[in-house]
Amino acid sequence: ADIFGPERKNSKGLNMNIISEAEPFFAALEKFKDTQWTAGPLVKGETLAGEVRDVVSPYDTTQKVGQVAFANDAAIEQALAAADNAFASWCRTPVETRANALQKLADLLEENREELIALCTREAGKSIQDGIDEVREAVDFCRYYAVQAKKMMTKPELLPGPTGELNELFLQGRGVFVCISPWNFPLAIFLGQVAAALATGNTVIAKPAEQTCIIGYRAVQLAHQAGIPKDVLQYLPGTGATVGAALTADERIGGVCFTGSTVTAKVINRTLAGRDGAIIPLIAETGGQNAMVVDSTSQPEQVVNDVVSSAFTSAGQRCSALRVLYLQEDIADRVIDVLKGAMDELSLGNPGSVKTDVGPVIDATAKANLNAHIDHIKQVGRPIHQLRLPEGTENGHFVAPTAVEIDSIKVLEKEHFGPILHVIRYKASDLQKVIDDINSTGFGLTLGIHSRNEGHALEVADKVNVGNVYINRNQIGAVVGVQPFGGQGLSGTGPKAGGPHYLTRFVTEKTRTNNI
Ligand code: NAP
Repeated sequence: ADIFGPERKNSKGLNMNIISEAEPFFAALEKFKDTQWTAGPLVKGETLAGEVRDVVSPYDTTQKVGQVAFANDAAIEQALAAADNAFASWCRTPVETRANALQKLADLLEENREELIALCTREAGKSIQDGIDEVREAVDFCRYYAVQAKKMMTKPELLPGPTGELNELFLQGRGVFVCISPWNFPLAIFLGQVAAALATGNTVIAKPAEQTCIIGYRAVQLAHQAGIPKDVLQYLPGTGATVGAALTADERIGGVCFTGSTVTAKVINRTLAGRDGAIIPLIAETGGQNAMVVDSTSQPEQVVNDVVSSAFTSAGQRCSALRVLYLQEDIADRVIDVLKGAMDELSLGNPGSVKTDVGPVIDATAKANLNAHIDHIKQVGRPIHQLRLPEGTENGHFVAPTAVEIDSIKVLEKEHFGPILHVIRYKASDLQKVIDDINSTGFGLTLGIHSRNEGHALEVADKVNVGNVYINRNQIGAVVGVQPFGGQGLSGTGPKAGGPHYLTRFVTEKTRTNNI
């Protein structure tokens, strides 16, 4: 089905199994293998100066990717003033014009695909396949929100009223939207937030994660090239503690769209509550403690395939990634056996090589925290398997994919954002306890289920409080317009990204009753 209406279909991405697609792609990618990029705050289209930092590759910190200037107080103030001034005109710009610029941006992303994938690989340590998927998702977000905004905003909704009176409901942008994104989808989430806010008539100040400022900078340059006015979209690289905190505390902003950890979402919520000015929305998409429940009717080989991709793709650095695998006891030994073999098949190393399945984690802090958790959980539980890091990974932030058996999900006090899989055995008679335990974490992002008993699968799907359930497949890789994505509870406020209700949170409503 054509989910974008007659105008567009989802981006096709690239199929690396088709030589006629793969060869020119790799030839083009090669051009960016040594590129040194520079980035900085973009205010009214001008790149401003700031404290300059080196950007190095997570897979080899001796390799430089470029330099970024972080936004200082003057840049923050200029960006806020520019976005505030530009709002009155942008919110009155026809939605068709705004949507056309986003469609053009989608085209430019595809035209610049190789550079963006090279950046995903070199700056964020993503595998090539992840980079391909990242660009595809960013393209889908731009096209999907362009079409959704037109559907919602082209005409006001006509409402009933007495003869001679015209009642109309209008949707309009809220003001300056601050978009704060994480490093794990440095292009797709970054641009998904920005595209949604722009399509609905808000001006935007985008703050990327401090680890992935170059990708964000290139994305904003392409947005300006696509026709988004330069004073409508500002870009402020820098840290959350400085740039993020200053933006969210400012009275002039009209909304915040945030994706990242639950802890940071709560900090922002408190900042918004404590500041002067209007009461404004916070859209927060946050972390998870995602489980998969596997009963004894499932097929071990299929289960393991889906477990390995759910737990270890992107080195486990996906909010949707599988953290806790529940195995019914009569199938557990068989699944664990196959799992060890499948883990051994994973290829670890340079994400720039097409053979690599698992690359590095984002930085030294992440690596240290994950390794500390592995040491701890191996004591608390029973190690199942841990891969050995290959030679050549010494200069990077690599964490060995690890599986550990534990007794209860309650020993995990927080999300561990990396390639670590926790396995718990359960008895068929304890299924309700499994459901209660998963719900007791308070998180509610993704859930995987493997079963050939449909009634059973649907019961678990119904009772576990999560945003996205996947039955008999992996639980990552939500597709825009197909699996609208987002959690509940500690995992987020909703509405779901890439879904038909997402844009509603970016707009305010005005009813006009007209008796002229
Ligand atoms: P994070 O530490 O919460 O950071 C996210 C963003 O918030 C970064 O840009 C960060 O800036 C900024 N920030 C930090 N403190 C701030 C403050 N006081 N005020 C305003 N902004 C502030 O999260 P992360 O480590 O980058 O990302 C991983 C997390 O994101 C995981 O928990 C993952 O589950 C979650 N995630 C959720 C989804 C979803 O859709 N539900 C998708 C992807 C990721 P800095 O760069 O300075 O830290």
